[in-house]
Amino acid sequence: MADKLTLEVVTPYGSVLKEEVDEVVAPGSEGEFGVLPGHVPFVTTLKIGMLVYKQGGNTGYVFINSGYAEVSDDRVLVLADSAERAEDIDVERAKAAMQRAEERLRQKENVDFARAQAALQRALTRIEVAQKVRQS
Ligand code: ATP
Repeated sequence: MADKLTLEVVTPYGSVLKEEVDEVVAPGSEGEFGVLPGHVPFVTTLKIGMLVYKQGGNTGYVFINSGYAEVSDDRVLVLADSAERAEDIDVERAKAAMQRAEERLRQKENVDFARAQAALQRALTRIEVAQKVRQS
């Protein structure tokens, strides 16, 4: 049994990361789940949330915008609608997206609430994930 996992995060916009890691915690639709080397194979859906991985003494944080995760052969493959490493998140852009979504949710008519809610959740989660590497 290998003592590492290969973590790969792929989106329609391109590959976000491919790393050898020790442990992954991902935002499953039914709740967070952790994967260590030797985990049984499975496939699950992901919700908007934060993926965390441990690599030696370091911890990495990745924003995940829904998708799927496949675990097999000590590999975690995440296929997400969009995703960014915490370091790559543009916080000003996320704040602007948050304000647009909040504005839409304040309107009473001609608003797709589910879409605006999802946009708001993406923005809030991006801000939260970005803070993980910006805290001093
Ligand atoms: P926006 O309204 O700002 O476009 P969004 O949630 O609609 O946000 P997505 O559809 O999730 O954006 O992503 C579109 C592309 O833009 C993806 O490549 C995604 O990684 C990138 N992206 C979106 N928001 C940010 C951000 N705040 N920082 C870095 N990249 C971002």
